[in-house]
Amino acid sequence: LALPDVPAAPRAYDAALEQELQRRQTLREALSQARDRQELTLFYQPKVDIASGRLSGAEALLRWHSETLGPVSPAEFIPAAERSGEILAIGEWVQAQALAQLRDWLQRGVVNEDFSLAFNTSSVQLMQPDYAPRLVAQVEAAGVPPGMVEVEVTESGLMEDVELARAQLQYLAEAGIAIAIDDFGTGYSSLAYLKTLPVSVLKIDRAFIRELHTQAQDRRLVETVIDMARHFRCGTVAEGVELPEQLTLLQSMGCGQVQGFLFAPPLKVSAFEQMAGLGFSHLFA
Ligand code: C2E
Ligand code: MG
Ligand code: MG
Ligand code: MG
Repeated sequence: LALPDVPAAPRAYDAALEQELQRRQTLREALSQARDRQELTLFYQPKVDIASGRLSGAEALLRWHSETLGPVSPAEFIPAAERSGEILAIGEWVQAQALAQLRDWLQRGVVNEDFSLAFNTSSVQLMQPDYAPRLVAQVEAAGVPPGMVEVEVTESGLMEDVELARAQLQYLAEAGIAIAIDDFGTGYSSLAYLKTLPVSVLKIDRAFIRELHTQAQDRRLVETVIDMARHFRCGTVAEGVELPEQLTLLQSMGCGQVQGFLFAPPLKVSAFEQMAGLGFSHLFA
C-alpha cells in the first residue's frame, strides 16, 4: 500500500507560527518588567443594585500600558502572564492595590460599608496551596472588613481541581470574603458543584445579556439562572448591560445587580470617585 507523501507545512503557516511565538516571547519579557516600571493600573467598573439604582460595588480590572508595546488588552496579557507564572506576582499586586484603594475610599467616605470590591483571580493563583491564607492575611493587613471583599473565579478555574478549589473557597468564606463565579454559563461546571461550594454571587456572562432583548431563548436562560441562584441563596450580577431594554428585562426577572457600559466602563480612580458621588438613579424608571 502506497502512502501519499506528507506535504510540507506551507510557508505561510510557518510564518504565522513564528510570529505568534515571537509575540509571546516579547510579551513575556515586557510583562516581567511591567510592575517595576509601574506600567500596571487598576480601573474600577461600578456595579449597580437593580432594586435601588444605587452603586453597590465595583470590579477591579487590570490595565497594562507597556512602554515598548503600548496598551495591551487583558485578554492577551492575562493568558501570557498565566503561561509564564508572572500572574502570581501580578495577582498579589492586584489584591494589595485593590485592598489599599478600598481602605482609602472607606476612610474618605467615597463608599460606605455595604459597598463591595471585587477582583479577578486566575486559576493559577487558586491552585497555589497557600493562596487563601495569603489573601486573608492581606485583607487583615489592609484593615478592611472582609465582608466588603469579593473574589471572582471562573468555572473552568474551579474545575481544574475541584477539591483544592473547594478548600480554598471555604477558607475565604470562613474569613467572611465573598465568592463570585465569573462568566457564569460559559464554562462546563456542573450545577451539582454549586451546592457544594460556598458561592455567594453568580455573574451571568455578557454572552447571554447581549441579545437578551431580542432572543427569547436567552431570556429563558437568564431567567433560569436567576431562579436557580435564588434557590441557592446566591446573588446575581448581569455583565455587559449596554441597553435600557436589557436593564428593564433584568429588573422584571429579579436580577440583583447590573454592570456594563450603560452605567459606566471601567474607570480610573478619579473618574470612579466622581461617578460615586453622582449615582445612577437617572437610568432607572
Ligand atoms: P471579566 O472579569 O469577565 O471582566 C469583564 C470584562 O467585560 C472587562 O473586560 C470589561 O471591561 C468588559 N465589559 C464590562 N462591561 C461591558 C459592556 O457593557 N460591554 C462590553 N462589550 N464589555 C464590557 P477587560 O477589562 O478587557 O478584561 C477582560 C478579562 O481579563 C476579564 O474578564 C478578566 O477575565 C481578565 N482580567 C482583567 N483584570 C484581571 C486581573 O486583575 N486578574 C485576572 N486574573 N484577570 C483579569
Ligand atoms: Mg470578572
Ligand atoms: Mg466576567
Ligand atoms: Mg465575561
